[in-house]
Amino acid sequence: MDYRVLLYYYYTTIEDPAAFAAEHLAACKELNLKGRILVANEGINGTVSGTVEDTNAYMEMMQNSPLFKDIVFKIDEAEGHVFKKMHVRPRPELVNLSLEDDINPKEITGRYLSPAEFMQEMQREDTVVLDVRNTYEYDVGHFRGAIRPEVETFRDTPAWVRANKELFEGKRVLTYCTGGIRCEKFSGWLKREGIGEDVGQLHGGVATYSKDPVAKGQLWDGQMYVFDERLTVPINQVEHNIVGKDHFDGTPCERYINCSNPECNKQILCSEENELKHLGGCTLECSKHERNRFIEKHGLSEEFVQQQLKWLEEMYA
Ligand SMILES: [Zn+2]
Repeated sequence: MDYRVLLYYYYTTIEDPAAFAAEHLAACKELNLKGRILVANEGINGTVSGTVEDTNAYMEMMQNSPLFKDIVFKIDEAEGHVFKKMHVRPRPELVNLSLEDDINPKEITGRYLSPAEFMQEMQREDTVVLDVRNTYEYDVGHFRGAIRPEVETFRDTPAWVRANKELFEGKRVLTYCTGGIRCEKFSGWLKREGIGEDVGQLHGGVATYSKDPVAKGQLWDGQMYVFDERLTVPINQVEHNIVGKDHFDGTPCERYINCSNPECNKQILCSEENELKHLGGCTLECSKHERNRFIEKHGLSEEFVQQQLKWLEEMYA
């Protein structure tokens, strides 16, 4: 494979995020990279794809900059680009926690655990593992037995933890996320809130854990959701269980689709068979939408569409 995907973040002080973003975008385009990078006063967070040569040049450029000298890249091999465009966007914060009093991970954060340490500690009786990602990420794959906060987005997680404090009482708490950036802040917040006896975080996230020669992704069930065109990547090198469930019938499923209603666009797990039955819509309203993309894309006949809609009306009734 001649391409690579780089996943990285770095907390540092970037004085003028907008100016930095414009300059950085030009440098990335020069290197033929594609991806999505966020820049804030507090640092940088990105995923980019490119050839081995171009990604090497990018890593070298970053590591040679005094601003990012200890930056760590997680590297996946790929068959091609996993993004269509290159974006570098200035943002008020790298991860959206919307805390009244923000957390600076350089001042307070959970204990860093290597993949091997995390694997060992997560199996202790007195320990709970908290998934700090979104529920749609959890649902296609997660650490066995991890707590799944019932939240729409990451910024709702603090309120959920406050409302469910008893889950953490007297326990050692371990957090994990895709690449580690959400844990840097969230584990710091847990410490400040006095949640749990001790707070640890998976350093480098699941992306690092999956490639670790000791951990080998073990105790992970399913796939990992990623924010690029791959949608999911394998983690556990030793065994593979499917935990994702079809949106419509609950059968094991790891196939993501976007709802065919362009105004909804929700990502759901769905078999090919059910996608056709439901005309790609996640609800009756979405299936019936006048600009249904699934009907258009597959050139479905008016007769077939009417027949399916009739069936759906009855099924949802
Ligand atoms: Zn929908």
